[in-house]
Amino acid sequence: MRLLDIVPCHRMKSRSLTIKGYTLPLCARCTGILAGYLLFPLLLIAGLHFSLLIGLFLNVPMVIDGWTQKRKYRMSNNILRVTTGILSGFGQSIVIVTGSDLIIASLLGG
Ligand SMILES: [Zn+2]
Repeated sequence: MRLLDIVPCHRMKSRSLTIKGYTLPLCARCTGILAGYLLFPLLLIAGLHFSLLIGLFLNVPMVIDGWTQKRKYRMSNNILRVTTGILSGFGQSIVIVTGSDLIIASLLGG
């Protein structure tokens, strides 16, 4: 079992990024989300604090892109998928870090 096998992705090659002839194992959206997660350590190390609303808002473009495509209102493309995926991954990181800060502060009585 490979590490990326745990990612629930459809792995459609037509929706995956190809770089110099190599097709990435995950779709463009999931690749973007994982790339967005790479910003997670920056939030912790640099001590950057964003509001939960910003974290949630950063997920909206991906939800709209995915939902409108699923409903067949329009067809997305890989650039849009990876871009909205990065925003979403970063937004999820913000929600986790800020949510954890809020929980810890409430437990400590702050
Ligand atoms: Zn995927």
